[in-house]
Amino acid sequence: MQTYSAPVRDMQFVLNEVLRVEERFAELPGFDEVSADLVDGVLEQAGRLFEEVVHPTNMPGHEEGCERRADGTVRLPDGFCEAYRAVRDAGWLGVSASPEYGGQGLPETLNFFIDEMFTSANMSLSLLPGLTHGACTAIEAHATEELRAKYLPNMVSGRWSGTMCLTESHAGTDLGMIRTRAVPRADGSYAITGTKIFITCGEHDATENIVHLVLAKLPDAPPGVKGISLLLVPKYLVGADGEPGERNAATCVSIETKMGIEGAPTCVMSFEDATGWLVGEPHRGLACMFTMMNHERLAVGIQGLGIAEKAYQSAVAYARERLQGRSLSGPKRPDLPADPILVHPDVRRMLQTARAWNEGARAFAGWVGLEIDRSARHPDPKVRRKAAGRVAFLTPVVKALLSDLGYENATRCQQVFGGAGYIAETGMEQLVRDARIAQIYEGTNGVQANDLVGRKLFGNGGETLRELAADLRAFIEEREGDEALAEFLGPFAAALERLQVVTGWLLERAAENREELGAAAVDYLRFTGLVCLAYLWAAMAEAALERAPSDNSGFYRAKLATARYFMGRLLPETAALDAAIRSGADTLMALEADAY
Ligand SMILES: Cc1cc2nc3c(=O)[nH]c(=O)nc-3n(C[C@H](O)[C@H](O)[C@H](O)COP(=O)(O)OP(=O)(O)OC[C@H]3O[C@@H](n4cnc5c(N)ncnc54)[C@H](O)[C@@H]3O)c2cc1C
Repeated sequence: MQTYSAPVRDMQFVLNEVLRVEERFAELPGFDEVSADLVDGVLEQAGRLFEEVVHPTNMPGHEEGCERRADGTVRLPDGFCEAYRAVRDAGWLGVSASPEYGGQGLPETLNFFIDEMFTSANMSLSLLPGLTHGACTAIEAHATEELRAKYLPNMVSGRWSGTMCLTESHAGTDLGMIRTRAVPRADGSYAITGTKIFITCGEHDATENIVHLVLAKLPDAPPGVKGISLLLVPKYLVGADGEPGERNAATCVSIETKMGIEGAPTCVMSFEDATGWLVGEPHRGLACMFTMMNHERLAVGIQGLGIAEKAYQSAVAYARERLQGRSLSGPKRPDLPADPILVHPDVRRMLQTARAWNEGARAFAGWVGLEIDRSARHPDPKVRRKAAGRVAFLTPVVKALLSDLGYENATRCQQVFGGAGYIAETGMEQLVRDARIAQIYEGTNGVQANDLVGRKLFGNGGETLRELAADLRAFIEEREGDEALAEFLGPFAAALERLQVVTGWLLERAAENREELGAAAVDYLRFTGLVCLAYLWAAMAEAALERAPSDNSGFYRAKLATARYFMGRLLPETAALDAAIRSGADTLMALEADAY
């Protein structure tokens, strides 16, 4: 069975002991009151709600799925609307949203951890507020004051939800080809016509209104991505009283039958002269939508972590109970007919691998969350710029690495269950199914890798990477001579050095042949992600070493054991990635297209 207990202790460790957020928030105007105690309280309270109220809806929702009724409305699985309202009423939806529109104005860093808990508890349901939060960021950043005042308070409170409507049947990765049209009307609104596919939560019964952010082309649009505009299209037009009124011509014509996230309706949306309003400048809509997409990309990485955490916890519970075979070093439970499978080295390998990835990923999420808060609030513009550059560089890494690890860990933990993992009743197949989509939507992981090497690395001549590497090297140099930490710093330093050398090699080759970038992209992204995790594991080891002598709970000893496992067994993958990158585009492109 799926097991979930919110990993509050580990989150507190990352935030308070490794990242020392209280000190970092003190530098950020508006966050100076966010103390370690407040962080603890938020995580504990939210954790309880997700464990007790949301998690129980997950497996039944997967079995039941969503239903589109004849009138075009969509019913979420039983219990979803109640669970959504419980989270909303407890105030966990607008945690990091602006107080101006009713949010709590807390750091994004904290919101990431709430997102993780929500996904673990019920990924399908978590998508609804996740998308709404992303839509709010785009509206707040780019819409007129009138639109902001009209829509944001109800979206921030969770009374209304949001969607992102990009994809069309012939235009997924390549959005320049979209055909949806927006024609200006005399009253300043636009008539939107077109069909969008795969729209998550395009229609549902959990909120009173749904606010679609739609990419479309104006009549005078230049071709390609430079001709895309962003429009806000509500399900119900909002009256002068601020309440949903007349039904708009934005309807769900069908929902998809799909592999996972069964409790989140994936809708085909038809817009037929639907009324909408422009967000941002004409033809500059893709840039506006990127505000939402960048937010969603980080959220999708965290979805991978959320699923992986639940898979890990479920597998540990099973490995303690399932009795098969005897330990190679002699029976551990001679009183029982066999030992629990937890004694077997291969079961340990699966569990420890999942744990090391998950704990590293959680620290990675916290680190990037903190950089987002610094990029938004630090008083020094240089610090803000540097943090923003780092977030942009790391966004595709978080999205792709964490969602890949989410799927890998879900299948790895399913394996711990043996045959039972393949049977629906244990819930492991749901986790594998749910995890898979995170590698695909919000731009496939291949496309994330292209973004990293093409735009974020090659596009600025490797400058952001150089800056990041310099900070990581400074971390190592400041700790030189620390004997206890040396076993962690050594492998981290070697991997960092290797990444820098192969980056130089790649940039040189790419200057002559751009195909080298595409050929190296996926391996390069994983390499970068592994180096970031190595940094965070070294930082976690340092925090654990400090406290290990007075450790009564075993928490810090476990942390050190997992740090050793990461350095010894997972980080060496970087050597293979290095070799794969250096084999170059030739090995990839040599086969003639006709030979496939
Ligand atoms: C369940 C689900 C929910 C979704 N939710 C939403 C939503 O809410 N809103 C929304 O707008 N969309 C949504 N999507 C759409 C999703 O974002 C796209 O499916 C995804 O971005 C990929 O686009 P595509 O399916 O058209 O694949 P394609 O673009 O056709 O790609 C096919 C393959 O080619 C590769 N490829 C394409 N171009 C390149 C390139 N230039 N370089 C290298 N490789 C390339 C891709 O990586 C992929 O492997 C959802 C999809 C699903 C399945």
